[in-house]
Amino acid sequence: MNLASLPPGSQLPYCSMLPGRETHHASIMGEGAGYDVIVIGGGGAGMCAAIEACDAGARVALLDADAKLGGSTALSGGVYYAAGTSVQREAGIADDTADAMFEYYMTLNQYRVEASLARTLCDHAAEGLEWLIELGVSFPVAALYSSGVESVARGHTAADMGAGIAEALDREVAARDIDVALDTRVEELLSDDSGPVVGVRIGGEDVRSAAVVLATGGFGANPYLLNRHYPEAAAHGDWSWYIGNANCIGDGLALGESAGADLVGHNRGLLLTTPNFKKELEVYVPAWLVYVNREGRRFVNEVAEYAVMSGVVKAQTGGSCFAIFDDDARAAARPDPRYADAFAAGIISLNWVTEELDAQIEAGKVIRADSLNALAIRCGIRPGALLATVEKYNDDVAAGHDSMFFKRADEMKPIRKAPFHAVEIKPAIVCLTSTGIRINAHTQALDACDRPICGLFAAGETTGGVLGERYIGGGNSIANAIVFGRIAGQQAALEFKRND
Ligand SMILES: Cc1cc2nc3c(=O)[nH]c(=O)nc-3n(C[C@H](O)[C@H](O)[C@H](O)COP(=O)(O)OP(=O)(O)OC[C@H]3O[C@@H](n4cnc5c(N)ncnc54)[C@H](O)[C@@H]3O)c2cc1C
Repeated sequence: MNLASLPPGSQLPYCSMLPGRETHHASIMGEGAGYDVIVIGGGGAGMCAAIEACDAGARVALLDADAKLGGSTALSGGVYYAAGTSVQREAGIADDTADAMFEYYMTLNQYRVEASLARTLCDHAAEGLEWLIELGVSFPVAALYSSGVESVARGHTAADMGAGIAEALDREVAARDIDVALDTRVEELLSDDSGPVVGVRIGGEDVRSAAVVLATGGFGANPYLLNRHYPEAAAHGDWSWYIGNANCIGDGLALGESAGADLVGHNRGLLLTTPNFKKELEVYVPAWLVYVNREGRRFVNEVAEYAVMSGVVKAQTGGSCFAIFDDDARAAARPDPRYADAFAAGIISLNWVTEELDAQIEAGKVIRADSLNALAIRCGIRPGALLATVEKYNDDVAAGHDSMFFKRADEMKPIRKAPFHAVEIKPAIVCLTSTGIRINAHTQALDACDRPICGLFAAGETTGGVLGERYIGGGNSIANAIVFGRIAGQQAALEFKRND
């Protein structure tokens, strides 16, 4: 069967062809034939795979469960992590290299990632970025920043964020002979005597192909899989919520497993810290907050990069911490000037502003007490240690020098005026998941003995082993989707040529 011949009422209501273009594949393939490459999932990885497979001469179908292409990629901040790019050179960073990125990647992850995959990502990240630029995505020099804990800036932010990247890829898909079927959730792979993966079943119909690429994204929207594969996220109960595409329920993992693929990367992903005021992503943590653990001690620069903050908070007793501030700070809490316009326009919400804090005092999520001693007891913090920590912090504010974590002194505020406040902070927002299909550097899905499963490829967030315990910095995951999505398309196209 081919997509054009699906009966009315089947799960293929939309085919994103160029306006006026004819559905030509019916004439290319006879009844019972199919595609060379079927890509499941049309986010960043899937669109890249479809484009590359098509450019390699394959007849390609791209299937997505959503009503439009883009997935979580389109919702993202559009930050892309790479070393040795033209954007860096324009910014005066002339000597950054894939080697340096690899060393950073492996060191930060204490070598607990698949080295061949990390190497491939580092080697091809710059090339992937230049390709996106050729496709029309703009990465302004001014928006290049250190998005992790690297000493050179490698976080390339797309001018129109993830939507800009997704739109450019969507345009390229539409400009090619790629059959796109939306609102089409694939729940089954086909296998027969000729191979373990010979196509997909949709709407009760078989669509055959020489190769299938799994690019269904992560499983953040699936509580069952979070429990199974990312218990650290699930442990936070109703604090935990997923910020990505609702179709990212881990179908790729189940599809891969059904064909014998192994999973790798248990309990990995990216969590963001939250005070759980509401289910909205916070973009701003003010420097005047003082984070203490249950031992009553500070343990981090409160404005440390999100790439490391969740891991640091997770490591504290109880897996959470408390943000402490006094009543002067509460009364003076204004939107950071960087976000004031967006806040005023209602585009973003901010947790750390007076109105919100007052509302959360009412709701009981901000704990208030007339003395630091009473506050500590209410929160389960060691009282004596909290008093000592606050005293030292206040001395540091007066001296204009954060002697513990070297936070910018002009943004620090003393904790003096009662009532005092505490807010529990947990790393509970699921940004992405990193347990997934085990692949090799050619994106072939592997079984438990590292043998490639004939005809099955995987790329992007549906794979495991690329992203480690430490998020190396903003852009790690988009780079993963683009680099391995492109490789998957090229390799899947080779598969059909091998079978020709
Ligand atoms: C708000 C937000 C901000 C982020 N910001 C950044 C950032 O700035 N930089 C960064 O590196 N990362 C960021 N991330 C993470 C990053 O966006 C994702 O990890 C990455 O885009 C995943 O790409 P992907 O192609 O693997 O999956 P996706 O883009 O999620 O695409 C998966 C697609 O598969 C489809 N699908 C799922 N199941 C099926 C099925 N059974 N059949 C058919 N289709 C299916 C889905 O509908 C979806 O379209 C962010 C994530 C979010 C949510």
